[in-house]
Amino acid sequence: MRVSADDHHWPGCHRAHCTLHSAGDPAAVARRHRWKVGTRLEGDEGYGVTRITITAIGERSILARGSQIRDGFLRCYPEGSWVLSSRCWRR
Ligand SMILES: [Zn+2]
Repeated sequence: MRVSADDHHWPGCHRAHCTLHSAGDPAAVARRHRWKVGTRLEGDEGYGVTRITITAIGERSILARGSQIRDGFLRCYPEGSWVLSSRCWRR
């Protein structure tokens, strides 16, 4: 299933709690959603689904590792800092 092409939200997204354009630092967003170390998320900016696993939640930042299939190629993201406000993330 894909995000809708026009606004990149997952079907059924509750916009009020959406991570896209959300205020607050990534750790606050994660806490608000009760996401923890080990939580797996998926998001899509319209170029293919990115899947990440949270590996650390700091005071302001979060770390995650993940992968994305883009144009048929698997792209791996080693652990790094993620900003959660650029995609509509869901579990
Ligand atoms: Zn959304």
